[in-house]
Amino acid sequence: MNGIYVHIPFCERKCNYCAFSSFTNLEEKDRYFKALIREIKDFDEGKLPKNEIFEKDDLHKIDTIYIGGGTPSLFDSGNIEKILDAIKEKFDLQKDNEITIECNPNSLDEDKIKGYRALGINRLSIGVQSLQDSQLSFIGRLHSAEQALNAIEISHKHFDNISCDFLIGLPRQEPEEFIFDLKKVVDIGVKHISAYMLQVEDKTPLADMARKSPFILPDDDQSAEIYQKGASFLQKRGFLQYEISNFAIKGYESKHNLKYWRGDNYIGFGLSAHSYVNGVRLANANNFKDYYSHKLALKEVLDKRQLIEERLMLGLRCNLGVDLKYLEKLGYFIENNENYTNFLEKKIIFNENDRIFLNPKYYGVSNYVIVSLLG
Ligand code: SF4
Repeated sequence: MNGIYVHIPFCERKCNYCAFSSFTNLEEKDRYFKALIREIKDFDEGKLPKNEIFEKDDLHKIDTIYIGGGTPSLFDSGNIEKILDAIKEKFDLQKDNEITIECNPNSLDEDKIKGYRALGINRLSIGVQSLQDSQLSFIGRLHSAEQALNAIEISHKHFDNISCDFLIGLPRQEPEEFIFDLKKVVDIGVKHISAYMLQVEDKTPLADMARKSPFILPDDDQSAEIYQKGASFLQKRGFLQYEISNFAIKGYESKHNLKYWRGDNYIGFGLSAHSYVNGVRLANANNFKDYYSHKLALKEVLDKRQLIEERLMLGLRCNLGVDLKYLEKLGYFIENNENYTNFLEKKIIFNENDRIFLNPKYYGVSNYVIVSLLG
């Protein structure tokens, strides 16, 4: 089944670490929403490049929609409704669907939350990042810890399926503090947590801050300890680690993100949105001018080698694993790779019914394992 991603590239202010496609020129929003809805309505799968290796799947049926950004929650249900209507006109949205919207605590209020629910949105992904005010202000977030907790509590009255994003590697962060933050949201009833390592990206204010005070951020070993202790706390509270950075109570895994990791088709709409369709990768332009003139930043028909790489990269970072029959169809017999036997013997990977999985204990070195398995 297919999924749809919609990108809303606006934020009130840029966070200090942000290297995503997000802009603060809100005066552009009317033109942008118009172009976005046009793009959805004009979608024509017949015009997509073809990959001969793949049998063509019908793209018409979808069961997930993910509205991400940026900060989609800057906009109330009226704006979002137009997008969902355009999608429903063009695609066949299945009954058992998952529709997620990304939200920031400072742009959520109860009316907005109720409005989203009334549209059929059934999952909220809230950017909490930390519940320590000093860390929030260091990374330039516009909300306090208290605002974040209030937003989660109000959301929880209307939504059962809530995910919270957290960052690991914040200034002077300690494992106990991270666990304290996780405990607060789990106690409210949050059933999905994404915990990402803070990346210091070039040309961001954070890169300057880290240059000026090199020891302010925890080093890799300290961050790894925070991650490990956070992961084991969540496991004790009944969360399943189903991807390196993602934890969920059973049944609350993100259906949409699982499509990325499983290699299912997804169609991206909006500035900088990526699509993966039947072995073809596409990305829209990441500036308004080029996006409005329908320029693509990427159009790539994946060859066998790229498909194998992608499958190993995605499958081994989550609990879906990699189907060896799929690799064989692409001409890759992994048993011939000596690292494969070696990793099996050392229990770094395991094979169950012709699928290989990375032992979660080794998620921290997944890149090394994947590169070694590629031969
Ligand atoms: S809210 Fe997200 S997208 Fe917006 S500036 Fe902050 S990190 Fe970037």
